[in-house]
Amino acid sequence: MKVFDVIVVGGGIHGAGVLQAAVAAGHRALLIEKHGIASGTSSRSSKLIHGGLRYLESGQFALVRESLRERAIHLRIAPSLVELKPFYIPVYKNTRRRPWQLKLGLFVYAMLGGFDASTRFGTVPRVRWVELDGLDTENLDAVIRYQDAQTDDASLTRAVVQSACMLGGELAMPARFLEAQLDDEGVTVLYEEGAARRECHARVLVNAAGPWAPAVSRAVHPAIPIPAIDLIQGTHIVVPLAVTAGIYYVESPADGRAVFVMPWHGATMIGTTETPYRGEPDGVHPLPAEEEYLLEVVRRYFPAFRHMTRDSIVDRFAGLRVLPAASEAAFGRSRETIYSTDRNVKPRVLGIFGGKLTGWRAAADHVLERIGPSLPQPRRVAATKDLILRSST
Ligand SMILES: Cc1cc2nc3c(=O)[nH]c(=O)nc-3n(C[C@H](O)[C@H](O)[C@H](O)COP(=O)(O)OP(=O)(O)OC[C@H]3O[C@@H](n4cnc5c(N)ncnc54)[C@H](O)[C@@H]3O)c2cc1C
Repeated sequence: MKVFDVIVVGGGIHGAGVLQAAVAAGHRALLIEKHGIASGTSSRSSKLIHGGLRYLESGQFALVRESLRERAIHLRIAPSLVELKPFYIPVYKNTRRRPWQLKLGLFVYAMLGGFDASTRFGTVPRVRWVELDGLDTENLDAVIRYQDAQTDDASLTRAVVQSACMLGGELAMPARFLEAQLDDEGVTVLYEEGAARRECHARVLVNAAGPWAPAVSRAVHPAIPIPAIDLIQGTHIVVPLAVTAGIYYVESPADGRAVFVMPWHGATMIGTTETPYRGEPDGVHPLPAEEEYLLEVVRRYFPAFRHMTRDSIVDRFAGLRVLPAASEAAFGRSRETIYSTDRNVKPRVLGIFGGKLTGWRAAADHVLERIGPSLPQPRRVAATKDLILRSST
């Protein structure tokens, strides 16, 4: 039986990050992914590497600070994958958040980002509104400009896996995790690769299966604690006709939620929705009502898009956010990642529930710290904050 220090289930951004962090610390590590790298949520996000301006409203300052720090690291280590973009927030007479509130928020955002050049913000002068992709200027009071970063989430995830494999990380793909048996030394993992069933042993199993994480945890024997979570569906649509000046951060006319209108491969991507989801994660797909909701947003702010209907949509995708179970609406809920272990001392299983694309590297560092006592003494070969990530496409 093959023996590893760490076995990771799930080839999304979190699994990729943990594989990379484990091998960078000198451990033997295997990643098991059932379909392809980033085939789950990590190819269906809004593709932003951002501090999360709106999380300031729910007081998640530590999360915003960490995310802004990670944004700066991405801009340094992944310049071909992560690009700083201008963001525009149009404020109309009836917009909920007023210019002074936005500027106050952006000041705090800049402060949490250490006031570096990327955190500068201001107001777009009226004479330059014509440069904003035909944005509706009727009753427009102001346009606030700041910066955040955009990526290709799937390419970023592949780049992290590639970096991990160059350091000796192993990949089983397509391969499906079936079950795990805990013992005094760690965990025996059974998985299926093609027609073959394989068994291997590790000190620690990291469950990075995203929305499938509860199912993976349920296949661990004896049973381990599983945190209560909700799955929230988020849909994006892509329509032809490109916005090019930057990313627009607008309020939905239906309910005031913030929605992004973004340039995407010569077209425009609009997202996202927040719809509670109760089915199996594999079944998630964009709903007609979500597509209408997103079309209404782009039609409201960009007159050139007013003729668009669901027939105009050239691409659509839906992903699932993993959030701590709660009764309140998804929008204002904590985005903190939950790390759940089978036991406090020397864990043999660690599950990652939730999290953000932006925070994958910090999350992986945290995981390695938590499982460190279960692993052999690290023989660090690299620091992940310095490993350059390259686009392979
Ligand atoms: C709509 C939406 C928009 C978002 N926008 C942003 C954003 O702009 N910026 C940001 O920072 N964050 C964003 N996020 C959050 C971010 O996308 C997620 O936190 C992140 O992608 C989750 O990655 P993950 O690795 O945990 O899960 P996933 O990417 O879902 O990966 C889990 C993997 O596990 C595999 N798997 C499952 N079961 C098994 C098994 N039995 N055996 C083997 N493999 C298995 C799956 O195939 C999958 O590849 C967004 C999320 C959503 C839903």
